[in-house]
Amino acid sequence: MDLHNGHWSHRVGEPASDPLVTRTPHCGHSASDSTCHLLVSSSDLEVKIPTVNGIVSIDGMVVPAGEARVSVFDRGFLYGDSVYEVVRTYDLALFELGLHLARLASSAERIALSLPWTADRFDREVRRVVEASREADAPDPAAAPWNLGECSVRIVVTRGSGELGLDPGLAVEPTVVLIAVPLRGPPLAAYREGVAAWPFGGPGAPRRGGDPAAKTGEHLFHVLAVREARAHGAQEALLLDGAGSVTEGASSNVFAVRGGALETPPLGVGILAGVTRAVVLDIAGRLGIPVRERPLPLAGLESADEAFLTSTVREVLPVVRVGDRPIGPAAPGPVTRRIHAAFREAAGGGHKPGKAPASV
Ligand code: PLP
Repeated sequence: MDLHNGHWSHRVGEPASDPLVTRTPHCGHSASDSTCHLLVSSSDLEVKIPTVNGIVSIDGMVVPAGEARVSVFDRGFLYGDSVYEVVRTYDLALFELGLHLARLASSAERIALSLPWTADRFDREVRRVVEASREADAPDPAAAPWNLGECSVRIVVTRGSGELGLDPGLAVEPTVVLIAVPLRGPPLAAYREGVAAWPFGGPGAPRRGGDPAAKTGEHLFHVLAVREARAHGAQEALLLDGAGSVTEGASSNVFAVRGGALETPPLGVGILAGVTRAVVLDIAGRLGIPVRERPLPLAGLESADEAFLTSTVREVLPVVRVGDRPIGPAAPGPVTRRIHAAFREAAGGGHKPGKAPASV
């Protein structure tokens, strides 16, 4: 499994050197009912922790990534009962953190989760984990230059732990987890050559669950979509609605270019209001590139002159193939390049001497 250069370390198999302590929990079963015993070991036996280079903060406590733990009774783990954001740095400054925190608040409101921290506290704590994670990892020669030495921070707020049961009233208090890891964006070659995208869902297929406008932990549909895309060698999955129109990517927004104008599905079709999407719409306005926000049938995307994806980690990524069909000449097009160049200017990063060109 590609874990962004990480790997799974299994600390299983070796007998524990320290004795396992068996306790009888208060669950009404007899002490001989072993299914009801808690096995407590100081040696993390059977906990599978990925070796990830990063820094984590749990409810404000900063720990190395490998030591981060949350309860198995946490509703984020059990039910995906959580909201999250992914922010990134340019020259280690956070890009559009205010917009991400506003969307976090909106997502939380949409699932009736009250955030335990103010926006100011989130702002402070996110900066703290970025600062704590400054130890750069080994440079990746294939990385796009503007990603070198940068980090991304996943902000996760779950409804918290509580007794088992779907009732959100069982949660005691929200858990806040911040995960700062070295940024792993698409390699430079992906921007130069473009990537493939694979359609998923559509008429008669199972529908995604939840509220697409809220960025929640409910992600199984997206996970299966990406699984399918990867199985076909594609970088991203395109989520189709019941009418066969492309709504968004599994973790991106989608744009087509036709006759020099941008086409992208409106928020009303049920998509996430991407921060990068908003920046790109603003750039298009400034460059005088017309934008048509309207439903995007799959056939409409396939017949476009160009296509691209937007997301915090990808920026503006050219799509040159959808399913089995090439888009235009199957190479990144001039409008996509122009928008990405303007995005690069807007985002900064990569301007430091010896670090990176500002564009692809
Ligand atoms: N759509 C979905 C479903 C996403 O998960 C994401 C980002 O992860 C996006 C769009 C792009 O949003 P942003 O540009 O804010 O990263």
